[in-house]
Amino acid sequence: MATVAEDFDPATVVPRGGHYIDGAWHNGRGAIAVRRPSDGQVYGEIPDAGEELVDLAVRSAETAIAKGDWARRAPRERARVLRRWADLMDADIATLAKLEAVGSTRTITSAVNWDVPFSADGFRFFSEFADKHGGDVAPTRSDHLGLVIAEPIGVIAAIAPWNFPLNMVAYKCAAALAAGNAVVLKPSELTPYSALRLAELAVQAGMPAGIFNVVSGFGHTTGDAIVRHPGIGKVTFTGSTRTGAAVMASCAMNGLKPVTLELGGKCPQLVFDDVDDLDSVAECIASGVFGNAGQVCTAGTRLLVQRGIADRLVERIAACARRLKAGPTWRADTDFPPIISTAQAERVGAIVDRALAAGASAVVGGKRMEVCGAGAYFEPTVLVDVDGGMEAVRGEIFGPVLTVQRFDDEQEAFALANDSSYGLAAGVHTSDLGRALRALRQLQVGSVWVNRYGRSADYILPTGGYKQSGIGKDLGRQSYESCLRYKAALIAFG
Ligand code: NDP
Repeated sequence: MATVAEDFDPATVVPRGGHYIDGAWHNGRGAIAVRRPSDGQVYGEIPDAGEELVDLAVRSAETAIAKGDWARRAPRERARVLRRWADLMDADIATLAKLEAVGSTRTITSAVNWDVPFSADGFRFFSEFADKHGGDVAPTRSDHLGLVIAEPIGVIAAIAPWNFPLNMVAYKCAAALAAGNAVVLKPSELTPYSALRLAELAVQAGMPAGIFNVVSGFGHTTGDAIVRHPGIGKVTFTGSTRTGAAVMASCAMNGLKPVTLELGGKCPQLVFDDVDDLDSVAECIASGVFGNAGQVCTAGTRLLVQRGIADRLVERIAACARRLKAGPTWRADTDFPPIISTAQAERVGAIVDRALAAGASAVVGGKRMEVCGAGAYFEPTVLVDVDGGMEAVRGEIFGPVLTVQRFDDEQEAFALANDSSYGLAAGVHTSDLGRALRALRQLQVGSVWVNRYGRSADYILPTGGYKQSGIGKDLGRQSYESCLRYKAALIAFG
């Protein structure tokens, strides 16, 4: 039965905090206040796991793997557990969607229509790999049999950010679990509750205790302890490039662990003057940058537009920005949410202020908004008169800010698009097929979207960046395979 997003009273959401280790709740020490981003009110607290509880979680995962009840379980049975888990998420949508909406920047409408069902589907998608890929027979000499045997790595650490808390669990954990690994997940301390709820549901679905553990806490304490732990076989991380680099260095120094890093972006959206319908392009550009108030690694924050249509397009995008309705996430008609925290909103504001001081002008937006209590909201903003050296054009803002640069021809457009230390994704709007194909070849990014913007909802296309946007992929077959290690066997029988 479809759930309809409706307004709700956030005071009715009383989350359970703690850690979920070895199939049971642990309270632990330390109290981190957790705020509702929409009005800034504290609505819960979580402990900080630290070394001791991280060690307990990793050891529980190792023990659960050693029992053989997951990695060595018949793959179809493992797949069935993941599908049951997904079904429980769907059945729990009323609770999960409210937890997500109260605690993060995801609106109740998004949570009901997208975050919960799309996350559940991620577990179904990866469950289907569990009994489809076990390795290869290698073409060796005829009196030998050569095998490439795919095996789970063991315990995988997943460190997730706050922008899509529930969905990040699917991104970071579904492939790992389907491949037969155990997981120790640390959600962001800003948004811990939906992941904890999923851990309870996993056990209800029949996943052995200790296979999926969630530890709460800060990145510099708990996150760091997880990455350093000798029992961790691989780390998968989503967050900033700076923290990703620190995680990678720690992995190198503490056991040479492989890493998957899904990091920052500064994604260009290129619009050529041959597009058919400027109105729908404007809507696409606006939703690509203002969705989730710009707190998306793939947000299309750099508009590169052909000079002749630039003013008309910018005017239309500004009109889309003015139509957005800012509000708390528990209101069903909100389509423009808050920034996750005051600190983050201040960071966005400071970058915009510096751009304005350096000569940029805001066609729309440019400052904080008073919307609901102490919630930190920032106006959807379009900056023109920018130059390629500005921080607003080069750095990831992670807020609802679009910069506009003009170009004269295709080569200039591609050069501007590639003039970035990031390489996560790009959008191209054109009605010229040849140009679209040249863009696919020339843009130095991990994903190119033509005449649309954003990832597809079917999990099969891998996502992950070139350059400083990361290493490795989430989603797709590539992500599943990165949760395995390969053993070569050679058997002589001549
Ligand atoms: P971080 O990259 O610092 O944090 C992401 C996750 O890593 C959080 O769970 C964090 O915990 C954890 N973490 C932090 N330090 C360590 C560490 N030493 N070892 C292990 N884990 C750690 O991002 P922020 O939340 O601070 O946001 C800052 C910027 O990062 C944003 O403005 C944006 O530019 C970018 N970002 C990119 C995201 C993406 O989707 N690629 C998502 C979120 C942010 P804790 O929250 O306790 O610090």
